[in-house]
Amino acid sequence: MRIAMISEHASPLSALGGVDAGGQNAHVAALAAALVEQGHEVRVYTRRDDPASPPVDGTHGFDVVHVPAGPAMTLAKDDLLPYMGEFAEWIAADWRGTWSPDVVHAHFWMSGLAAVTAARACDVPVVLTYHALGSVKRRHQGVADTSPEHRISYECQLGRVVDRVVAQCRDEVRELRLMGVPRGQLALVPSGVDTTLFRPDGSAEPRDPDRPRVLTVGRLVARKGYEDLVRAMPAVPGAELVIVGGPPDGRLDDDPYARRLRALAERCRVADRVRLAGAVAAADMPRWYRSADVLAAAPWYEPFGLTPLEAMACGVPVVGTAVGGLTDTVVDGVTGDLVPAREPRELGLALRRLLGDDVRRVSYASAAAERAARSYSWRRVATRIAAVYASVAGPHLTSTESHREAVV
Ligand code: UDP
Repeated sequence: MRIAMISEHASPLSALGGVDAGGQNAHVAALAAALVEQGHEVRVYTRRDDPASPPVDGTHGFDVVHVPAGPAMTLAKDDLLPYMGEFAEWIAADWRGTWSPDVVHAHFWMSGLAAVTAARACDVPVVLTYHALGSVKRRHQGVADTSPEHRISYECQLGRVVDRVVAQCRDEVRELRLMGVPRGQLALVPSGVDTTLFRPDGSAEPRDPDRPRVLTVGRLVARKGYEDLVRAMPAVPGAELVIVGGPPDGRLDDDPYARRLRALAERCRVADRVRLAGAVAAADMPRWYRSADVLAAAPWYEPFGLTPLEAMACGVPVVGTAVGGLTDTVVDGVTGDLVPAREPRELGLALRRLLGDDVRRVSYASAAAERAARSYSWRRVATRIAAVYASVAGPHLTSTESHREAVV
């Protein structure tokens, strides 16, 4: 199949860990690569945010097309809505040229708007993965939510007009049903993990062998619950908390949220046991996971949550909050422990208990690695996503393409 992916703000080529570069970027990159591996042709459209970017980057097995829409500079994702019309027009023009897709897969709601507009002009079926929902963000962040004003109503409408919505966890299915997305529109396919990279064996970052390590990873944003984790540390005596993510190490001092975390660690008298490591290149992440005794993930809400899954694939047990995708990936009492969100005391007790119980940790570790490899390999996930594409693109496939699909 010829697959167009739209990921307006989240380029599969970006460095991860910054405020707007995380799970979606990683997901789009890995899904595109896995689909190419299965014989599909993939073109990813992302907004051109750097004048030095080539129009098309084809060095990763799939094309990344840098769409000129708005200024060629980094903009916050919440400021991109005004450029989506231009983005859609450019893509539609591209599809009227020599390359037209059998299906378009939009990632995030604004990509959905661009996809629906371009696809209507070119008669291409649209699949949408939201990655995050405005209704959930608004519920948790209230007035701090900087999303464009009509995000929630756009998201509700998109769910009805696209050909299929791919939800990534059961919690998202429930939320989408509340938004009025018809059940028949929904497919549940989780995100995946590269089990050739994220695996239990291999080298690890150096660490102090006498100090248990609690690792947490992600974009340095409040909703990831880092403050709850710092507050939990007094209940976990002797252990260190390593926070990976945010700007690179040398620039952490300029980051207001990093400064806030450090000040909080001082107030909680755990500053000597809390270390901010800054952004780590995606390829080095397995080494960091393997250096940890436990991966802590304490988000207030989480659309999917790749980092717990990556840790599991590396054979690291998880202590996480019972929200969103974590309630699917982490099996409570088998591959990790789930605690309520925004409860530092419970979080601290769970960490302390697990760090103090070697047998339980070893048992969680092997169950976690097995679960990640069995249920979440990209090969398996890409096959399921391709089946979703085929179900909506069937009538649109060219005759040669349908013949090939029928034979395979
Ligand atoms: N990540 C990374 N380097 C960092 C911080 C994060 O490579 O310094 C990656 C991490 O390994 C994961 C992604 O960024 O693949 C974060 O995804 P997740 O779903 O956990 O969070 P999101 O960014 O979607 O909120």
